[in-house]
Amino acid sequence: MPGNLFIVAAPSGAGKSSLVNALLKREPGIKLSVSYTSRGPRPGETNGVHYHFVSKEVFLNMVERGEFLEHALVHGDLKGTAKSAVEDRLNAGEDVLLEIDYQGARIVRALLPKTISIFILPPSKDELEQRLRRRAQDAEDVILRRLQGSREEMAHAHEFDYIIVNDRFDTALEQMVTIVHASRLRRDSQLIRLDSLLQQLLT
Ligand code: GDP
Ligand code: ADP
Ligand code: 5GP
Repeated sequence: MPGNLFIVAAPSGAGKSSLVNALLKREPGIKLSVSYTSRGPRPGETNGVHYHFVSKEVFLNMVERGEFLEHALVHGDLKGTAKSAVEDRLNAGEDVLLEIDYQGARIVRALLPKTISIFILPPSKDELEQRLRRRAQDAEDVILRRLQGSREEMAHAHEFDYIIVNDRFDTALEQMVTIVHASRLRRDSQLIRLDSLLQQLLT
């Protein structure tokens, strides 16, 4: 497959969505895969943009029909990446980015070993808690549950190819851009892209 597949994972509140949105502005060639979920939309979330919001029944039917590349139960909600959102684009040479949890990352890595995976860490426990509170979207019990879940997610940082600490936002963003640029220079990608150049140079 000529396109690169990126996974970005992080504990809730580490700045994953902010960093990914900024990365996509810098690198418009990367397509974000919109996940399916059984949870309801939060205020401000739009169907088809933030998630495809579906009922549990519809989600489980999709599982049965084999329509997901990966799916997992995350914080009590079903989340999944549709195959259609990924495979056609990679085959067309487009880069695709998945914002998924560590369980999904494991499945995708096993299916597509060339996947490039990035884990975002917060600079400290206190800062993670402050960011979750600053976002002011969730109730106290939800924040405490997410902090608990954070520890579980962060325990899997070592499974990822790259680890970035999101202390200064701009520095973390530059580091993500560097990873994307370096990945595009890997032999696998370059040999496909530079096929005709290499043929000319070698004849
Ligand atoms: P957030 O933590 O504030 O971003 O809240 P969300 O409800 O949007 O996401 C919760 C978790 O679900 C995050 O860790 C996401 O990475 C994960 N997630 C989102 N989409 C998918 C998916 O398609 N598959 C898997 N496995 N995890 C997902
Ligand atoms: P996630 O998607 O990982 O749950 P968000 O992108 O929603 O995290 O970020 C959580 C909060 O932290 C948001 O209010 C965001 O504006 C803020 N934030 C993100 N990165 C930084 C940073 N480097 N410094 C300070 N605040 C940040
Ligand atoms: P301010 O709202 O004062 O511009 O920034 C508040 C905090 O958000 C700062 O600590 C800054 O590091 C962080 N920050 C800077 N740029 C961004 C950004 O683009 N997105 C997010 N989510 N946070 C940012």
